[in-house]
Amino acid sequence: MADNTLLFDGARCIGCKRCQMACSAQRGLKGSAEDASSVTAPVAPWAPDVDGNALMALTYLEQAAGEKDFQYTFGRKSCMHCRDAACVRVCPTGAMAVDEETGFVRNRADRCVSCGLCETVCPFDVPRINEAQRRVVKCDGCADVVASGEAPLCVGACSAGALLFGERADLLEEGQQRVAALQEQGFADACLFGATEQGGLRVLEVLKYGLAGVRGEVLADTGSNKTVQAVELTGPVSLGVLGVLTVGGIVLFGYGMKQPKR
Ligand code: SF4
Ligand code: SF4
Ligand code: SF4
Repeated sequence: MADNTLLFDGARCIGCKRCQMACSAQRGLKGSAEDASSVTAPVAPWAPDVDGNALMALTYLEQAAGEKDFQYTFGRKSCMHCRDAACVRVCPTGAMAVDEETGFVRNRADRCVSCGLCETVCPFDVPRINEAQRRVVKCDGCADVVASGEAPLCVGACSAGALLFGERADLLEEGQQRVAALQEQGFADACLFGATEQGGLRVLEVLKYGLAGVRGEVLADTGSNKTVQAVELTGPVSLGVLGVLTVGGIVLFGYGMKQPKR
């Protein structure tokens, strides 16, 4: 299996949203190629969400830094392509699966029954059911594009050097070098996120100001997720049925499950 990975560098991102526009435009979802040429840097904090129509959302955090100063952090909300993905472990139909050719996590439309289990367990709160398509729609790492030898579209759209695509080992090294450079510049909390979490992520992030405010608490490993444990104990098909009932608002299932987003 290919060891493809994306590196997002929040220290280099300028918030232009060209990545988001390129993603949406090629999917026929929100946004368009025209939007991409006219966007300017944002002037206010915002935290948009993925919603089954937008597969990736650029986020923005403004924090006070001293009495009169502010620091700005751009982030990226989308599938992190966990190598030990909770969504894959609980999917009762095999719809959510690792693409053997690219290594990215994909959702097969013909197998998804909209049970919502993947929404419930994802530590990054990513999968969303597209009501029109009646299935989960999420970033698939541009698997078809990658399989044809090209970089994912969001990467190709970034001219700021904030998105890179390549072998995981190379990007781990690149990310660590960028973090070291930031620390030398005085950003003591700078870190690389994704090296080990959830079996190691296929989306690595350089976080200039560290995890605070950007990444919430994520369980170190997928096996500690109580819902994943419950599914593996009870069997994914039976819990998949419960998940379907949950979608209809009939059952509130225990084990600290999140409610699927609609
Ligand atoms: S980020 Fe969520 S949806 Fe993506 S692979 Fe990980 S568990 Fe699955
Ligand atoms: S909604 Fe259910 S069937 Fe569809 S991908 Fe998620 S877990 Fe699998
Ligand atoms: S990898 Fe492809 S599907 Fe995923 S966010 Fe980038 S452009 Fe969108």
